[in-house]
Amino acid sequence: MSHADLRELHTALTLAADLASGLQTAPSRQDADQLVDVLRRALTAAGSLGTETGPAGSPTGCAAHPHGAVDPLYGDPEDPLPPGYGKCLLCNDRRRRADARQPLRLNRRRFRGPDCSP
Ligand SMILES: [Zn+2]
Repeated sequence: MSHADLRELHTALTLAADLASGLQTAPSRQDADQLVDVLRRALTAAGSLGTETGPAGSPTGCAAHPHGAVDPLYGDPEDPLPPGYGKCLLCNDRRRRADARQPLRLNRRRFRGPDCSP
């Protein structure tokens, strides 16, 4: 169990509670998606609790998701990940969605179709 996992769990649960209590009687799709995203973070962090191995020894090298998936684009010489991206697919996915909310910084090359090999 790492300190980062616990912190991530507390942060995500607090945020989820705040989001849930702020919901209107007819929440929008965006509200629901945001809540699901935060709850997934909490679930991932909770799943990481109790592990003895540190993030450095994990495949992702991620303190929050040591047992998560490795981004298939990590180390791809033809389509390198942007600066600041790591091996963790969950964290990179979050970064991509954050980038996608800023259309001027959107890089469409990064969104590959299902026909691409991993
Ligand atoms: Zn991660």
